[in-house]
Amino acid sequence: MSKYLTIAESQKILGLSKSKVYELKNDPHVKEILGRDIIWEKNPERYLEDDIIILKEKLKRHNTKIICFTAFKGGVGKTTSSGEVGAILAQKGYQTLLIDLDYTQCNLTSDFGEEDEFEGKTLYDVFRMAKTIDEVIHNSRIDNLYYIPGSIRLSEYQAGQLKRTILKEKLEKTNFDFIIIDLPPSINDATFWGLNAATEAYIPVIPDKYSLKGIESNIMTINITKEQTNPKLQLKGLFVTMAQKGTTVAELIKEVVSDKSLPWLNVIIPRRQEVVNARNNGHFVAEINPNSDLIKEYNKLVEVILNGR
Ligand code: ADP
Ligand code: MG
Repeated sequence: MSKYLTIAESQKILGLSKSKVYELKNDPHVKEILGRDIIWEKNPERYLEDDIIILKEKLKRHNTKIICFTAFKGGVGKTTSSGEVGAILAQKGYQTLLIDLDYTQCNLTSDFGEEDEFEGKTLYDVFRMAKTIDEVIHNSRIDNLYYIPGSIRLSEYQAGQLKRTILKEKLEKTNFDFIIIDLPPSINDATFWGLNAATEAYIPVIPDKYSLKGIESNIMTINITKEQTNPKLQLKGLFVTMAQKGTTVAELIKEVVSDKSLPWLNVIIPRRQEVVNARNNGHFVAEINPNSDLIKEYNKLVEVILNGR
């Protein structure tokens, strides 16, 4: 018997917006690719799986940007930046996938639901070959935004047990405009799975001395990964997060940002309680207060991601 896929399932596989998937049956380009009308059923609307698979190959995007936020320090805004930037890109209409590689905490996963809800449908299940990557991509409450939950069970893999390029290889079978990877705060295997999959790295930095100290080893790790295993990886830049008004900090920011030996971006994310409130209520600020000065600053980062600096 032929297998059919719902709109949501087709959407995930094709990496297209919901309205585009609804319109496939009227799209002359689709007819041209298949050499006939696409086969679909009306109620509930669904498409023949074989047709969607053919379209996936033919419509494949070749320029997916895979972004990672990395810092060998916790609490600097990696997860917040992953979520807010992902939400903004999705709001702009880009098909965007978030991946939670910080398996010790899975904070990004918690932004979408409780960990036990995702049992059997996480990145771990792809790595242990129980699921395909398409099967662990979840639709989020935001249009065009998808996510792959992390799992503490990823820690079951002993150091070096999986290839460092494992995530990169799995992602080759997906079709998104942007993939954003949230990395752990320390160097472990997941750090390397992420850095080897990424094409661009961004480093969030809190303007304090201890945070600044860790930058060097972070950049070195990116450079070594680039030299040894992932020539596509580029360090796009550093940006300040949680900047607070006050002279010492303001001076420190001025000092660090004027250090031209490091690729500082002209992005200074302010410290705002609304970030904490929004996340406590299961939202991103980009969803509930898109005109805030915090999101204005995240928009500058998104501009860099879209157009370079
Ligand atoms: P990391 O992923 O680097 O550990 P998080 O993004 O989880 O850091 O941020 C750490 C904490 O700081 C979280 O509680 C988060 O809600 C909060 N936070 C992040 N960015 C801001 C900000 N701009 N203003 C205020 N609080 C923030
Ligand atoms: Mg985090």
